[in-house]
Amino acid sequence: NADTAMYHAKEQGRNNCQFYSSGLNAAAAERLDLENELRRALEREEFVVFYQPKLNIHSRTILGAEALVRWKHPKRGLVPPGVFLNAAIDTGLIRSMDEWVLREACRQVKAWETAGLPAISISANVSNSLFHGRTLPATVADALRDSGLNPSQLELELTESIAMRDVEASVTMLEGLRTMGVRLSIDDFGTGYSSLSYLQRFPLSRLKIDQSFVRDLLTNENNVKITRAIIAMAHSLNLSVLAEGVETEGQLARLREEGCDEVQGYLFSRPVCAEDFEKLLRGDADARTAA
Ligand code: C2E
Ligand code: MG
Ligand code: MG
Ligand code: MG
Repeated sequence: NADTAMYHAKEQGRNNCQFYSSGLNAAAAERLDLENELRRALEREEFVVFYQPKLNIHSRTILGAEALVRWKHPKRGLVPPGVFLNAAIDTGLIRSMDEWVLREACRQVKAWETAGLPAISISANVSNSLFHGRTLPATVADALRDSGLNPSQLELELTESIAMRDVEASVTMLEGLRTMGVRLSIDDFGTGYSSLSYLQRFPLSRLKIDQSFVRDLLTNENNVKITRAIIAMAHSLNLSVLAEGVETEGQLARLREEGCDEVQGYLFSRPVCAEDFEKLLRGDADARTAA
């Protein structure tokens, strides 16, 4: 049996290494296993997309969802991205994984719409590898064409560091995506190094304030000041602002006072599987009809 053979080969490899390097630690071996498993996970389609609602801060209606990858591991169960993202980046598998998530999320949101549920927007996280790999525009065009989703319903979440490498090339690519009708946002805003000049040059629609600023918004006056400054700057650049990681009514009230536009967090829902998100969406639609 192939699996057994592979298992023995791996075991043997490990022993060989230990033969001349008894110091080879378990962590390195585990990491190698993880990378090999990730490769197979892609082929076996073990990844699933979870969805977390994004809401209007005033009406609390669902505007959209963020697609967040999970690994449905045959033995370990549902594995969060924090466990395997670094390995996915190191092996280069992150690009294929991101592309799969993007396509699957577009397909799912269009399917909900076709089934009569509200047409929501969907955002997907774009790794720096995918962004700098130059295949992003073609991948996005394919995902939109194959799903039939309206481009304005798709948002790409980029990190602050994307432009650190090549600003001109980045601006050109972002303008191309914007011309297709896709929305662009900066994720985890405030944790990286953003230059105000490139924020202005990028055709962005939204900034997502990192959850670290929201976490102790009620106890740390500095975080309030930073949040206020981000919101003011974003609005002056005509960008909307979403706060991530909202867990309490107190945080929500404070963010509303500060003029934040949208929210996402456990207060409303954790990221959930497609089936459960569909229920959320149905409930939200019913509430709107009743109002
Ligand atoms: P992110 O894009 O900033 O996503 C938000 C993360 O915060 C998610 O963690 C979400 O579950 C978590 N979160 C949401 N609301 C709350 C809250 O109220 N409290 C707390 N404590 N956490 C909250 P998750 O799903 O574990 O993802 C972690 C990170 O992994 C993401 O951060 C993103 O950077 C990355 N990631 C997830 N899916 C993908 C993907 O498909 N591709 C790429 N390249 N990265 C992904
Ligand atoms: Mg994100
Ligand atoms: Mg984020
Ligand atoms: Mg984050």
